[in-house]
Amino acid sequence: MRVIGKTYTIDYCPTEDMEDALGICTMAEQHIAIDDNQTPAEELDTFIHETLHALVRGMRIAFPSVEAEEAVVDRFGAGLAAIFTDNPEVLRYFQRLVREANNG
Ligand SMILES: [Zn+2]
Repeated sequence: MRVIGKTYTIDYCPTEDMEDALGICTMAEQHIAIDDNQTPAEELDTFIHETLHALVRGMRIAFPSVEAEEAVVDRFGAGLAAIFTDNPEVLRYFQRLVREANNG
């Protein structure tokens, strides 16, 4: 997956390899690991959460602490997951706009 000029590899990993996390974003290795034993709703939240970590680091958005980044990413991840779940037509709208943007 491309994130602000970097290509991230995404792997779906067994819970025992996940260090008590549902997802892990490793900027240096441009890697995202996702626990493969989640409900679809949990996995959506986790995927958005880890993508937001990659985004804020790629854009060099500064946070006062690791905990502050985690709190912001956690809330935005959960919020975006809820918006997409409650409004699937928004994803279809995004899809159309992206297709048109790529063809424009
Ligand atoms: Zn996190």
